[in-house]
Amino acid sequence: MRSYFIAGNWKMHKTVGESVALATELVAKLAGAGEKVMIAPAFTALQAVAAVVKGSNVLLGAQNMGPEEQGAHTGEVSVLMLKDLGVSHVILGHSERRHGYGEDDALVNRKVRLALKHGLEPILCVGETLGERESGRLEAVVGAQTREGLAGVTAAELAKVTIAYEPVWAIGTGKTATPDDADAVHAFIRKVLASLYGDAAAKGVCIQYGGSVKSENAAELMARPNIDGALVGGASLKAESFVPIVRFR
Ligand code: PEP
Repeated sequence: MRSYFIAGNWKMHKTVGESVALATELVAKLAGAGEKVMIAPAFTALQAVAAVVKGSNVLLGAQNMGPEEQGAHTGEVSVLMLKDLGVSHVILGHSERRHGYGEDDALVNRKVRLALKHGLEPILCVGETLGERESGRLEAVVGAQTREGLAGVTAAELAKVTIAYEPVWAIGTGKTATPDDADAVHAFIRKVLASLYGDAAAKGVCIQYGGSVKSENAAELMARPNIDGALVGGASLKAESFVPIVRFR
């Protein structure tokens, strides 16, 4: 049976205590869930949440990381620090980083390669703005983000990469791409991956959809052939909304 990868991005929400409380509830309520599950708390809560999820089926992710191993980079958090805490996955190139903090494809690619070098599994986020979609540039934008984000990544490393397709206009807005629309973009991303790594490798890549995923639309999205999971923002902040997404079937 196909297995899905559902990840929760808690963004800049929750104190350490609140994070521990939610993680504790999720570990209890997601025990035995058939899907791969990850939560990405804020950096400040990673250590405490790591202790909660240890030994459970809930994986620990970070929301970002710096592009260097260590050094004079005030305010950055390094791959080595994340590994040290037991983090296994890292979200990179989220649209809030690209559009709010000026991260470009070259920077995102440096982070992707550094994560892979140290055995951290990246979730590479790609997605177009409404303006890019409406001016017919969706494929050019998403294709470039995929190709440039993966520059220098080997076929063996690709097996550790998840791509998250997150149309910027659907993030936190309540607007969701229709399942058919999303699936068409996922198929396009898979075509780009096939052109870089071949059909078999491309088929094996997990492509998550992100953008106002909730329990009401999760099953319909996940039923599409190219949608292999979800990256969930707002609905991942409460067990009552996240658990039904993970247990969508
Ligand atoms: C996200 O930030 O990755 C996201 C998909 O957010 P939301 O689910 O709130 O749209």
